[in-house]
Amino acid sequence: MNETVFIGLGSNLGNSANTLTQALNALSTLALTPVVASSFYLSRPLGPADQNDYLNAVARITTDQPPLTLLDHLQAIENQYGRERKGERWGPRTLDLDILLYGDKAIDLPRLKVPHYHMMQRNFVLLPLYEIAPDLHFPDGQSLSDALQQLSLDGIKKLT
Ligand code: ATP
Ligand code: MG
Ligand code: MG
Repeated sequence: MNETVFIGLGSNLGNSANTLTQALNALSTLALTPVVASSFYLSRPLGPADQNDYLNAVARITTDQPPLTLLDHLQAIENQYGRERKGERWGPRTLDLDILLYGDKAIDLPRLKVPHYHMMQRNFVLLPLYEIAPDLHFPDGQSLSDALQQLSLDGIKKLT
């Protein structure tokens, strides 16, 4: 079955703009229709502060890949762009690809929680999401615009 899936992209190591551009191309191989991508946003790091600012974006794809298969593909793309898993949570990374929403499904598996558990608190997720899906409602019925109004937009800047 085809589902609309939103994916959060992040990078703060290497040439992040190139990496995000190439990752968006890689996502198109998993998509049945053209990938819709937000602008790139510059944001301050979460967690350890002694790391570069992040470049973030959100993409929308239509896919027939089941959730865990999609996660496998996304992790393969992360690895392809030099992602090293060093154990430190929220540490610097060349590429992070998170499944934010998978249709209106709620998924609670050890490897995959959807909606992505912290997205409601992250301006670097909700702001790019709003750019490409301003009328979106979450599976629990909350509107994205209401969720965004709860958040400070400190530390985030849309790049042109
Ligand atoms: P955060 O999840 O807070 O954004 P992170 O993206 O840096 O942190 P990762 O190191 O990329 O965390 O992923 C850790 C694990 O999270 C992955 O191995 C994956 O199994 C799991 N995970 C759970 N839910 C999701 C999801 N919705 N999208 C991607 N990975 C997820
Ligand atoms: Mg993440
Ligand atoms: Mg991740």
